[in-house]
Amino acid sequence: MRQTQEAKIGEVLFRQKLVNQHLGKDRLFFHESSAKQIRNILKERVASSHKIFQDLSRSKISLSPFLEVGAEKCQRSALLASKFNSTGFALDLSLESLKSAPFFAKNLGLKKVPNLICADAENLPFENNSFSFVFAFETLHHFPTPQKVLQEMRRVTADFGYVYFSEEPIKQDLNLKLWRRGYNLNSIEKILKKMLVLPFISKIGAAENQFGVLENEFSTKLWEKSLKDFIGASITIEPTFWGPKQKLINTGKRWPINLATRLTISIEGGGITVLYKKSGTEQRKKTKLTDLLRCPLCKKLNITRFKNKIICKFCRARYPIVNSVYVLIEPKLRKRLYPNLEK
Ligand SMILES: [Zn+2]
Repeated sequence: MRQTQEAKIGEVLFRQKLVNQHLGKDRLFFHESSAKQIRNILKERVASSHKIFQDLSRSKISLSPFLEVGAEKCQRSALLASKFNSTGFALDLSLESLKSAPFFAKNLGLKKVPNLICADAENLPFENNSFSFVFAFETLHHFPTPQKVLQEMRRVTADFGYVYFSEEPIKQDLNLKLWRRGYNLNSIEKILKKMLVLPFISKIGAAENQFGVLENEFSTKLWEKSLKDFIGASITIEPTFWGPKQKLINTGKRWPINLATRLTISIEGGGITVLYKKSGTEQRKKTKLTDLLRCPLCKKLNITRFKNKIICKFCRARYPIVNSVYVLIEPKLRKRLYPNLEK
């Protein structure tokens, strides 16, 4: 199942408004983080990602060239570029989020900004077997099912390269879903939180939902199905608040989740982290980063920069460059998401 165009439009509109709030331009969503709050959130995210990247790098996993899918403000890609000497791309559907990347990188003391690509995660504009490291945080749950995005991430990963994703939700069974709450709780929600009932009667994602952005959570069964091509992947599943976390290796058969973990997740929900090494035969050809780009319409590699546009030499499709962001969305969809770019 693919993400609908309506959900994609919702993503674009919502992120555009949210990023303005995060830049301190206006305040539309009182229950979402403010400009000041987002700085602290991003700082924490950079610190936790730093630890993850360090661990991966110590395990001799090459973090360059990389692709981040659903990069939003791109702080993790900026971290890789600035502190890990990696080169790569940060990709997101939201042009406004990508345009804010240099501002937030500077704010976080990160000197380098990665190459920025505005594109659809279900149609990655890259050649097969391109990257040593393809990763996503808090991204897959914005799709109806994670299959298509995972398939794309795996496709563009080089043989012997790695796919990593984290902070994706596992479904909580015990939830009445009476309403959607925001990031900042109102006074009643605060009381309900103290009574420990809030996570059982409401779900997070109020503002996103108004815009038609998907806020999904997937059962372990659906994760199992979505990861059937990811044999050998090491998978960590853990309950949201308390309870035993479990590590397992994906053999393609039913995951042997122990009863305690299964039970706590069904009560309180959980999270999943996956690290997968792509097997294969072919060593990655060392090429320039821009040589990895392909046309999202005809899927051919013949694309080239001409003045302030990218042109496909094969099908003649044209793609704009906006504030050094390459907008590599297939033209029909682009017209719906960004009608202003067509003028
Ligand atoms: Zn083309």
